[in-house]
Amino acid sequence: MEKSQTAVNTFVKETGAWIAAQLEACTRCGMCAEACHFYQGTGNPEYAPVWKIELLRRAYEQRFTLSGKFKLALGLEKAVTDADLTHWSEIDYYACTMCNKCSMVCPMGINLGSMIHDVRTGLSNAQAVPADLHAAVEKQENEGSPLGVTDAVFKQRIEWVADEWEIELPVDVKGADTLVVFSSIEVMKFPSNLAAIAKIMNAAGEKWTISTKGREVVNFGFYEGNEELTVLFASRVFDAAKELGVKRVMVTECGHAYDALRWSAANFMQVPAGIEVTHIAGVLGEFVKSGRIKLKPGAYDNDGAITFHDACKIQRRGSHIQEPRDILNILAPKSFKEMTPNKEEAICCGGGGGVIAIKDADPIRYAAFELKIDQIKKANAKTVAMVCSNCRLQFTDSVQHFNLDVKVAGLSQMVADALVEK
Ligand code: SF4
Ligand code: SF4
Repeated sequence: MEKSQTAVNTFVKETGAWIAAQLEACTRCGMCAEACHFYQGTGNPEYAPVWKIELLRRAYEQRFTLSGKFKLALGLEKAVTDADLTHWSEIDYYACTMCNKCSMVCPMGINLGSMIHDVRTGLSNAQAVPADLHAAVEKQENEGSPLGVTDAVFKQRIEWVADEWEIELPVDVKGADTLVVFSSIEVMKFPSNLAAIAKIMNAAGEKWTISTKGREVVNFGFYEGNEELTVLFASRVFDAAKELGVKRVMVTECGHAYDALRWSAANFMQVPAGIEVTHIAGVLGEFVKSGRIKLKPGAYDNDGAITFHDACKIQRRGSHIQEPRDILNILAPKSFKEMTPNKEEAICCGGGGGVIAIKDADPIRYAAFELKIDQIKKANAKTVAMVCSNCRLQFTDSVQHFNLDVKVAGLSQMVADALVEK
């Protein structure tokens, strides 16, 4: 079977009343384009969100509507071809972080992010996924992590962090309350985050553990749109949580992982009942508010202005908007400054959704980041704090690429460094 046929069959299979209603509701007003950082950063009309679901629309119209069948028969519209798959693979994987800002502005309430994910599923089934991204997916399937954090590497990294920062990281503790699951970006690129979060959990007196089996919170199957692997990767975490008997799973500094585990997994699989999925941003807020940890007021007030980058999946989707601000207002009451736009309306950093894993997408990713540079400059910020290590990787890489004099900081690290010892 041709690849295009496989993709079209997937689109048709996905198209129920909900997708049909969304596609029919679109008025082609173009408002979603202005919301997309890839369209804004490049001016390329092909990056308009509504164009990213064009293959899904064509498959729906040509299979289910009379007008679509006529247009196809008269040659007024063409069927989806293998060349289209290659072209839309670049549009939908290189130039979309699934940030869902476009859905927020659509006057018809169309959930574009979710439909772009459906297009990715068709492309994944047709094996039209960018090679870099698919290689990371295969690595996660075979080694347990897209960055090569095998059982042995994980053990070695945890032991090294424990020695280096002289901190206790409990592993595979049955009966703990909270299972903490790090992303391999933290394990490999920002290991001090592991020590920082361990320090906070210990200071709060939390009964927590990490798990060898459920050691990877990132879900590259979700990025690719591969439902089977999305379920496999989420199951590794949920199975570990069940075996350890924890009450909650805490996602550390990763936004897409939070979306995948907290909300999207339930669309694909039976998620275990009675296990809460939460994010470090919410837990930090909870610890500070309840007095379980205390922070040194004004600890960061002497380093120039500090701003906060809202991660799409943690703040816009996850609503953890106030907790980081409450914390920054303690740590830097005089220096904390908002970027504009912010909170739900914040602009994505451009590195999520698997984009940063695709080398050929670099020029687009940097073009999108230029919007962020503009915001940082307007806030006159010397430090940008955030609670997503994928955003942090994009910021760190882009700050270097553009040679900016800006410090990039993880909020957990800032909190850990400003803890008042009891
Ligand atoms: S904003 Fe909504 S209605 Fe307008 S073009 Fe985009 S998807 Fe269609
Ligand atoms: S989800 Fe975000 S990146 Fe993707 S098209 Fe919409 S605004 Fe652009």
